[in-house]
Amino acid sequence: MATQKVTWDLSELFPNITDPKINQAITEATTLANTFEKTYHGKIANLNADDLLQCLRSIEVFTAKFSDITLYSSLSFSANMTLPLTQSLNDRIKKLQATVGTQLAFYELELGALLKRNPQIFQEPALNNYRHMLERVYRDVKHQLSEVEEQLIIEKDQFGVDAWKELQSKWLNTRMFDVTVYGEKKMLSYAEANGLLPHPDRATRESANKSIYGLLGKDGEIFASALRSICNDWVNVSKRRNHISPMESSLISNDTEQHIIDNLLKTIEENAGIYRRYLKLKAKLMELPVLGNHDIVAPLHGLPDLTFTYKQAQDLITQAYSRFDTQYTSAVKEMFSKRHIDAAPRFGKRNGAFCESHYNGKSAYILNSFNGTLSDVFTLAHELGHATHDWYTSRSQTILNTDISSITAEIASIFGELLLTDLLLDEAKSDAQQKAVLCLILDEAGMTAFQVTARVWFEQALYTSIQKGEFLDYKTICSHWTAARNRIYGDAVTWFPEMEAEWTMKPHYYMANYRFYSYPYVYAQMFVYSLYEQYLKEGKAFVPKLKKALSAGSSLSPLEIGNIFNLNVAAPDFWNNGIKMFERFVNNLQKITSH
Ligand SMILES: [Zn+2]
Repeated sequence: MATQKVTWDLSELFPNITDPKINQAITEATTLANTFEKTYHGKIANLNADDLLQCLRSIEVFTAKFSDITLYSSLSFSANMTLPLTQSLNDRIKKLQATVGTQLAFYELELGALLKRNPQIFQEPALNNYRHMLERVYRDVKHQLSEVEEQLIIEKDQFGVDAWKELQSKWLNTRMFDVTVYGEKKMLSYAEANGLLPHPDRATRESANKSIYGLLGKDGEIFASALRSICNDWVNVSKRRNHISPMESSLISNDTEQHIIDNLLKTIEENAGIYRRYLKLKAKLMELPVLGNHDIVAPLHGLPDLTFTYKQAQDLITQAYSRFDTQYTSAVKEMFSKRHIDAAPRFGKRNGAFCESHYNGKSAYILNSFNGTLSDVFTLAHELGHATHDWYTSRSQTILNTDISSITAEIASIFGELLLTDLLLDEAKSDAQQKAVLCLILDEAGMTAFQVTARVWFEQALYTSIQKGEFLDYKTICSHWTAARNRIYGDAVTWFPEMEAEWTMKPHYYMANYRFYSYPYVYAQMFVYSLYEQYLKEGKAFVPKLKKALSAGSSLSPLEIGNIFNLNVAAPDFWNNGIKMFERFVNNLQKITSH
């Protein structure tokens, strides 16, 4: 099948975008919200366990109903963002979401008040299904301020930290960059210039890097003002909320603990040498004495041009998943047969790839743009892992237990990538093919586990600096970034001076009220590498454990998920398991290159 024809079929949700069933569903969901408000507003804080159970079940009925509408509108819009019909539905549903959100805001506040008043309630047998969900709410409730204080924070942020964030993205989207592409001078938007960073031509990569970071650096003091204000504001808010550190809020939302993250980062630092060994090997493959910063994720030359049709990708991924276990392929097969994937590249479609779960259909929908590269096949295998996770979770959990924290949300997706890696390595017809697969995997994992760790250190350094009373001007912030970066890269990479400004363009450093965005990525990558290491040791005995973990959804903590595999995530040496997996890939590549 030509990729141009691979569009999804959303009729399981609604027949089409003008069908009266959409209005019917909106009316039903609105009625459910009204009834919920009438029944529970002002009453939740005093409920007993049995009544709370009824309340949680009611909110689940509403959430499930409403999710069909929001899912349909967001999927239709992502697939065709320029069509007036998808735009108007999307706009209408967004407004409805805001209205319903305000109408039901009392639910979380009152649930918090209930848990404050009666912290033992989640141990009542009636609430067994919701134990961990309530534990998570309770952990956060302790840091909630009064209603007026919470309102004041929202109001001050609107023209405070939110505006600093806006300024950063406005800057990026209104500048033009002078880039020489294959010897030809061009003026490009940020998105276009940024797209050239992994360009096959080295001189083009150099020009794009120097142009982007050179221009960013010229306005460095502006970015420093924004970041300094956002971080200082966060220090104040964290103190008001009684958080023991600027990181604590993110630990709560990620459902994890400080010492676990400290161990993780320490293990990465101790093993940065393995990543550097890969980078030096890559320099050799690129016939360079040492990699420049513009070579870190550059494609290798002279490798076979691995391209795949959509059908080939489908067969490969299905085969990779079924080598693990035949039932484990159920979701993958269904996603293709039910046409739940929109893979055709086209104008007006959202960039990138995502998988959205469809709770009521016990399924999911994937959007990607498949152009036939090896990396496109990996993206599809990754997203089908998310669909597999949804498949198991939606069959075992109620909807409140499908709120999976980002550190465990990647279990099946990264696992799926590794299943595909193993298959491709086993079936590679030449050393060159193996090299292509290994470099792709190592480039990605190197960025996610190692370079992202440098970003966490950078953020930590900013807060330490503030606590010591230092002033974060542009050059000071740059020195924190280059110090963190060099802890990972050491002598394996040389940097253009312009790269000190690298931090200025990362939008997540400026995300108001969501700090420390990065470490969950490191956790997810290393956790799944550890799981795969365990799978290689245990073979088929591992299969039911993985299914159990995926079926648990968010009803268990990440620590309890680890226990399913007899793995203690809290043990100081736990993360070394994941490193072993990464090291094996580097060793394989070294073996092939020395042939
Ligand atoms: Zn993912």
